[in-house]
Amino acid sequence: PDRVHILGVPIDRLSMDQTLARIEAFIASGTPHIVVTADAAGIAQAQHDPALMEIYRAAELVTPDSIGVVWAARRAGHPIETRVSGVDILDNLCRLSAERGYRIFFLGAEPGVADLAAEKMRLRHPGCNIVGTRHGYFPAESDEVVAHEVALFTPDILIVAMGIPRQEKFIRATEHIIQAKVGIGVGGSLDVFSG
Ligand code: UDP
Repeated sequence: PDRVHILGVPIDRLSMDQTLARIEAFIASGTPHIVVTADAAGIAQAQHDPALMEIYRAAELVTPDSIGVVWAARRAGHPIETRVSGVDILDNLCRLSAERGYRIFFLGAEPGVADLAAEKMRLRHPGCNIVGTRHGYFPAESDEVVAHEVALFTPDILIVAMGIPRQEKFIRATEHIIQAKVGIGVGGSLDVFSG
């Protein structure tokens, strides 16, 4: 099958190139899509967080973000070639943005970090179209207000780095407001690129 289920979470058995092709098709489609990067910790959390599990099961694309997920798929008899991490997806989407002009918004991490990550990304992939950034420290009651701020930047791709399950719940709760073609939760990836 195209997907293997690990403790109820569907994982897409795709290479990085296939994953990027799917994401580019989502962008071309013009409607919102959710991409989840699932690691062992997220799959464990989903076992006792029905709302998170529902988001995982409804997501258009779920990538194997940790080596533990790759192993579990192999043991289930549906091997996955390789890990497809949030960090690597983010890097590749910024590369593609430089080529195709995709509008990317960085939301998450501590104040200053998303901005620094954007600066580093623009050096790494000249022409990368990061249209805005915002830190990720606000209460869930402010989700709609933040979403309206982000929507003004009309991103094609919304990168949310606020940790599991906050980032997934934010993306789901606000996709009708922000209307990015792809919302993707990437955990600590902005910290990685800001360093
Ligand atoms: N974070 C955030 N808002 C919060 C809590 C955390 O933006 O309210 C950020 C934090 O600064 C870090 C990321 O979310 O950049 C969490 O990274 P982690 O690797 O812990 O993510 P996970 O493993 O949960 O995906």
